[in-house]
Amino acid sequence: MMGPKQEAQAALFYEFSLEDHVPQDHLLRSIDRFVDLSDIRQHLAEFYSHTGRPSIDPELLIRMLLIGYCFGIRSERRLCEEVHLNLAYRWFCRLDLSDPIPNHSTFSKNRHGRFRESELLRHLFETTVARCIEEGLVSGQRLAVDASLIEAVANKQYSASKEEWDTDRIDVYAAPRAVREYLDTLDEAAFGAATPVKPKFTSYSDPASQWTAARKGPAFFAYSNNYLIDTDNGVIVDVEATRSIRQAEVGSTKTMLNRVKDKFDLHPERLIADTAYGSGPMLGWLVDQQIAPHIPVIDKAGRADGTWSRADFEWDADNNQYICPEGEALKQFRRNYSDLNRGPTGKGVAKYQALKHTCQACPSKPKCCPNADCRKITREEHENARDVARAIRKTDQYKVSAKLRKKVEMLFAHLKRILGLGRLRLRGPCGAKDEFLLAATAQNLRKPAKIFPAPQQTQKA
Ligand code: SF4
Repeated sequence: MMGPKQEAQAALFYEFSLEDHVPQDHLLRSIDRFVDLSDIRQHLAEFYSHTGRPSIDPELLIRMLLIGYCFGIRSERRLCEEVHLNLAYRWFCRLDLSDPIPNHSTFSKNRHGRFRESELLRHLFETTVARCIEEGLVSGQRLAVDASLIEAVANKQYSASKEEWDTDRIDVYAAPRAVREYLDTLDEAAFGAATPVKPKFTSYSDPASQWTAARKGPAFFAYSNNYLIDTDNGVIVDVEATRSIRQAEVGSTKTMLNRVKDKFDLHPERLIADTAYGSGPMLGWLVDQQIAPHIPVIDKAGRADGTWSRADFEWDADNNQYICPEGEALKQFRRNYSDLNRGPTGKGVAKYQALKHTCQACPSKPKCCPNADCRKITREEHENARDVARAIRKTDQYKVSAKLRKKVEMLFAHLKRILGLGRLRLRGPCGAKDEFLLAATAQNLRKPAKIFPAPQQTQKA
């Protein structure tokens, strides 16, 4: 039998509890147990005036932003609509059914003002890391680092070629916020000072973004999101926004490793990364810090003509010489200088050479140095560290590390596909920093929420 037609009937009174209507297994219930905003009012206290109209509760804004980043709601207008309509979101924000939702413009005002001045978003992110450490999800022994390109809000049509671009012609007072931020970061190692090379194109709307391409794909303007993660459970222990060039990405690794050491006393036994991080200076720095580099070495000593490369020669550290496959020594110095200031210093790139008459009589000369009188080999300043990395690469532990490295890539895939952060919404280095910090906070909060879900209550009969 067909039932009566459903008519809209507004009841005069409702007995309604949000608590009862949010499912026990809702992700937000699990996340809520790991969100600690108890000290943000104190953190922000000095950035609010003591007089005037009371502000929107900053905890409410942060809770709404967390919802946006946890559920991939990228627009703040839409976020306000969603929180207005969704009961679980209201519950998470501590809003009752009749409580008003802040206007979307409140977010940008706070973001450009007190949130940035107080570094609130970094504080929030570090709170989640501290909580993950407290829950036993981070041992800090095996860390992995990687960077991912995130498209900037910039268009090729509104850009200048490197011949046209002139920083001196920018009117600082009339320039938009992202351009002023670009000028402010010109001396920072992560942005302007990362390289003196001018990019092929510079965006007028977001000049700090880098014109680049990923894996032979089409070029676009982007920032790099750098993650340092603990591989035990894939918790992000630090995040940094940089220009999308290798020097800036590699430099950010040192910044992040130093920061987690200072903040959380994390000193890893190893660092896992891909070849981009395998330069001599980077490996040398890691070995100096007593961190094992589980990183493929960038080695340009290979020879295309099939003759023996440096890898075919054995390094004899005790005697400061190479031994060739025929058992002959290649030495740096063949004389003892009585005055230490005379003769080659051995600093920087060192050259090692076999004796001319030995090579001339050698049967392997066609495979070793067919076009030279004798064989010469160079050894860079950080060759010892490179040798450490090469030796690690032959171990079983390295095979384990190669699998663990995938965890960073999975986090980036999750960031782009599930959280929808394939393209930034905010311009400028500060916009990129804010978005990366909030996204990393959301990813970190989802981690313990998934591992330790909220306890289920038995349904009442
Ligand atoms: S050519 Fe000289 S360096 Fe090369 S294998 Fe022969 S002796 Fe050794």
